[in-house]
Amino acid sequence: MADAAVRLVMLGPPGAGKGTQAERLARDRGIPRISTGDILRAAVLGQTDVGRAAKAIMSAGRLVNDDVVIGIVRERLAQPDAARGFVLDGFPRTLVQAETLDDLVEHWSPLVIVDIEVPEGTLVERLSKRQICSVCGTTAPTGVTRCPKCGGGLVQRSDDDVEVIRERLQVYQRDSRSIVEFYRRRPTFRSVDGDQPENLVAADIAAAIASVEGVRR
Ligand code: AMP
Repeated sequence: MADAAVRLVMLGPPGAGKGTQAERLARDRGIPRISTGDILRAAVLGQTDVGRAAKAIMSAGRLVNDDVVIGIVRERLAQPDAARGFVLDGFPRTLVQAETLDDLVEHWSPLVIVDIEVPEGTLVERLSKRQICSVCGTTAPTGVTRCPKCGGGLVQRSDDDVEVIRERLQVYQRDSRSIVEFYRRRPTFRSVDGDQPENLVAADIAAAIASVEGVRR
């Protein structure tokens, strides 16, 4: 039962460890991690139309237009590998995105929602140390020196500059925190303490998923 298809939304402020935990869970379960931030960064590096439109917004730490991000997720969820489950990382970030996601997944079993809670002081410290791949834009997991996907060198994210980090944390409080309230009353919502070592957070997430198995259809 623990290995039944999991469709999970990883919530939490920037720097909570969503990417690291989503990557780990996706690997363990053999399901895709869908990170809108990674997809957008790849679009910026590839200079696609979406990338060109998103670049300045992302560098300023603000949110990319709902229609653009929803279009990305709609397309990604329609890929065959997402039918076996997925981990969404960085989406939804607005109520419109959350409501649209419900429509997109209504024919599947209920979403599992995991909110990773971390105090703000810890977030700033973590974000200022984080690195991404200079070639494909993927966020590097902690402890690696080259991109696990393409072997590219690692650099600091342009939006992990202290001023932009502050803006992103404000945007989170203003626009995205309400998503937690949107989901909180669902029987498949769980909150985990993200201010502990990576392995313990991963164990708490696994326990959270196991505990909602009974309430999923
Ligand atoms: P992340 O890697 O999740 O921190 O995302 C990096 C940046 O990409 C964010 O600061 C936003 O500018 C943009 N972004 C990623 N996901 C979304 C989303 N769901 N809605 C709007 N903008 C997003």
